[in-house]
Amino acid sequence: MADEPTKRQDNDGESSSDRSETQSDKGGLSRRRFIAGAVAAGAAGVLGVPSVASATGSAPYLQVTGGDDGSDLILINGKIHTMDDDGTVASSVTIRNGRFANVGKGARAGGPNTTVVNLKGRTVVPGIVDNHNHIVLMGNRPGFHTPLENASSVGEVQATLAARGAGVPAGEWITTIGGFNILQFAESRFPTKAELDDAIPDHPVFVSQSFNGPSATNSAGAAILTANGVTVGPDGEIGPGGAGATGEALLFLRQTLLTPETRRRGAADAMSYGASLGVTTHLDQGAFQETGEPSDGAAHEDNFTMHIPFLELYRSGELGTRLRINFLNLEQDVETPQLVERLKNAFPFFGGDLVKTGGIGEFTAGDFIQLFLGNPGPAWEAGTLRVAQAGWRNENHSLTDVDFQPIIEGWEEVNSQVPITDLRWVLAHVPFISEEYVNRLKALGGGLSLTGWRYLAGDAENNGPPFRMIVDNGIPTGMSSDGMQIAPMNPWLHMYYATTGVNAAGDLINDGQQITREEVLRLYTADNQWFLGEDDIGSIEVSHHADLVVLNEDFFAVADESLKDLRSVLTVVGGKVVYDAGVV
Ligand SMILES: [Zn+2]
Repeated sequence: MADEPTKRQDNDGESSSDRSETQSDKGGLSRRRFIAGAVAAGAAGVLGVPSVASATGSAPYLQVTGGDDGSDLILINGKIHTMDDDGTVASSVTIRNGRFANVGKGARAGGPNTTVVNLKGRTVVPGIVDNHNHIVLMGNRPGFHTPLENASSVGEVQATLAARGAGVPAGEWITTIGGFNILQFAESRFPTKAELDDAIPDHPVFVSQSFNGPSATNSAGAAILTANGVTVGPDGEIGPGGAGATGEALLFLRQTLLTPETRRRGAADAMSYGASLGVTTHLDQGAFQETGEPSDGAAHEDNFTMHIPFLELYRSGELGTRLRINFLNLEQDVETPQLVERLKNAFPFFGGDLVKTGGIGEFTAGDFIQLFLGNPGPAWEAGTLRVAQAGWRNENHSLTDVDFQPIIEGWEEVNSQVPITDLRWVLAHVPFISEEYVNRLKALGGGLSLTGWRYLAGDAENNGPPFRMIVDNGIPTGMSSDGMQIAPMNPWLHMYYATTGVNAAGDLINDGQQITREEVLRLYTADNQWFLGEDDIGSIEVSHHADLVVLNEDFFAVADESLKDLRSVLTVVGGKVVYDAGVV
């Protein structure tokens, strides 16, 4: 109990002295039951299939008591970085009814259902809020999608795939679709067919880089794909899409493997993986609308049905982490009929604590390539005005040195007709934005979503974003991953890049724009309140949602390279333990 104030009065004036010790012991017993029940529930799984976390050697996605059933969850003896305005570091928190009931003031004595967790000095941070990612795409991947974003060598790829295969019935496809780049591997290449066979002989494997490959497969996968008309090279290599072999392979896998049941399993796996990293809230930014042709890549899905697996998990009580949903819109008709219907038939920021809608984004209208080139065009202009007239939030992305100017200028034009200064419009990624345009966006009441996606494949020319300039500017700013196609979900990789400027290959590519660990953690937690439009999330404060992450190491003390190895050992969402590595 060390520094725990067991003899203090709690807020209600109850003496907690001896009873608190007893409670702690009871809590220990209670906690064992708590976890045992949870593991049993988790092992049964959504469909009797192990989750990605269990398949990779850690605990499954847990749905257990401790939320709104009147029981208390108390964490003591921690270094709890609350991320409140004062930067308070507390030693204990009490969670009741899904919210923080007490922070840093000693454990309140609870009822017989009180669970006490002795953190023994571990570091705790608020649940990570990812304000821009594609978790819904990740949840709809065909096969048993296996993130490779944390592998730094072919050997680690083999180990990750082997661990996944061990938890999956033989013959099932093990897939990795996006979220990594071979530049992150020491060998800077795909695993060979023989290496994949060695690692995972009893499953067909499909490993595909970024949006459109290239990709690789093993002998079992090559046999199936070749028999179905996909061109596979002698060493298992599959050429890049759009309409190339990777696109054909991906289409085949989607057509043969995706069912409502497998999508639901994939959605649970995706949220489970996020929970194991400490990500407790995802703001999804949509998909390119699928065509059902080989030109579809990893980022294509049906924007009108792809949320269903997540909503099913929510309805059955199996969605443990929070999902916020933006509606992506891309169309070239200046009348923007699809956007008009969306604005008429959906509600912004509507829903509950676990699932809620957001705004329009990360695209509004127009043509993706023309946007990239800095020519938003008339459909974009018309659509943008309609979003403003509807009073919705709007989010766009910027990926080049010529696309942020016309977007911000277009928003200024819209604002001259319909004020947007209270709508919190967001520009995301912004690798090359200038301070002049940061100030112009700030004058519009806008904000910037930053990401470390250059970590995977960036270089001295393809670098940014200018973290330092933007944080110093003071415009509303938050952090995101933009995972899971061109970037990892793992927030600790993004925090590594933001604080060191070093990419996965070990090259310093963003020198002069580094920010501090305190700053980047704040961007990924409390500062993302602004992006969600919610003021009771992202920091550990009384009455806020009880979302927190107990870390395996001290974020503020580890060496730079060890930032990449930070993981959750216990993730709590709304007072419920949703991930438990079994070490606290
Ligand atoms: Zn995105």
